[in-house]
Amino acid sequence: MASTPYQTIFSPVQWARLQIQFQQAVKSPFYRRHVGLKQTQKLKSVAEFFRLPITTKADLVNNNLDFLAVDAACICEWVTTSGTTGKPVRIALSKRDIQRLAENEAAALRLAGMRAGDGLIIAVGMDRLFVAGLAYWLGAQKLGAVCLRSGPALVDLSSISITPLGPSGRWFIIGVPSLLGAGFRLADGLPPHIGGVIGIGESLCDADLNPNTICRILQDSTHAPVLSTYASTETCSTFAQGPQCRANHLNPRMAIIEILNDRSHPVAPGTPGRVVITPLGQHAMPLLRFDTGDIATLYTDRCPCGRRTPRLGPILGRAAQLLKIQGVSVFATAIIDLVRKVYPGMDTAILADRDSLGGDRITIYVVCPAHRRDMLKKRFDRAAQSQLKWLPPVQYCQAQAITEIRALRPSRKATIFIDARY
Ligand SMILES: [Zn+2]
Repeated sequence: MASTPYQTIFSPVQWARLQIQFQQAVKSPFYRRHVGLKQTQKLKSVAEFFRLPITTKADLVNNNLDFLAVDAACICEWVTTSGTTGKPVRIALSKRDIQRLAENEAAALRLAGMRAGDGLIIAVGMDRLFVAGLAYWLGAQKLGAVCLRSGPALVDLSSISITPLGPSGRWFIIGVPSLLGAGFRLADGLPPHIGGVIGIGESLCDADLNPNTICRILQDSTHAPVLSTYASTETCSTFAQGPQCRANHLNPRMAIIEILNDRSHPVAPGTPGRVVITPLGQHAMPLLRFDTGDIATLYTDRCPCGRRTPRLGPILGRAAQLLKIQGVSVFATAIIDLVRKVYPGMDTAILADRDSLGGDRITIYVVCPAHRRDMLKKRFDRAAQSQLKWLPPVQYCQAQAITEIRALRPSRKATIFIDARY
């Protein structure tokens, strides 16, 4: 068997759980009919696993219900992906999946430093078919924490005087970093003892694992550790970090991770590639070698926290959000971070569409007070020239223009990047 960088970190626990995941997956019509696996088939070797075809998001969209490996009677919850790069996809959860979700998220919150008796302010929606808010609530309950389901708008917590509501008096906050940043500026009554801020859905560090703009804003607002976490609706397997960590640890009980190049070959640790995840323990819709569409780097050296489990770096971009502009490849995330850095707290939209020759085109729209426009534009151009090696056009506009741009691609998430290329 050929050795790959990834196989050196394949543990016995993962192998045992992978065999169970495989046997569950071959119960689904997708893995039998489309991939040609047999229902009685057993996974004999790691090499055989790595020969399995990659499951793509397009497979999930086009054959959605064929991924079901259980009777309809076993399903107790339907959730959907946010459809950031296409149509939302339906994902079924059984009671076992709900228990797995709780175990998975409790482990992630524990790694972030939470303990029984701590409080968790969940600044994430529990509605609209999202799985994330449900997962944090389940995880916190399993951990023995106290929950406040604030929602993304961060309700005014001063009105209920939350400090005495959690036995330890220590509160963690989980939410989307840019929304939390805006919310903290407005919110009175943040608890005096914040144990940590956990950011979801957006990176909190740059490619060199140094804190990015939004991370520093959150640190300055709370004087608490700002921690990232990574998961997807399809895999429900969380990568999390503690205060000393650099990047997010894999939970080996919950997933196997591969980082692959465009030809689906593994890349060496420290090299960015496509994040391919095989969740472990899934029941209703089990996936094998699922390509998340995200680009990131895996680190296998020892973490400053002392753990040796592999860590996933920040999402450098989505394969579908790689733009090719005037011959330069640039991820939307790099532009987003730059815009946030130069125009903090201002309403902004980054519109990607096509120019008359069919190439990718970017325009940045900013609602900015007139007296600051020239100075900020100069600052933006300097930063773009050094970081992107390219100058994206900036248009100053009224708030209404940004509302109209967002309406081009309606999304359940408040988004700064609007991809109207397709
Ligand atoms: Zn660590």
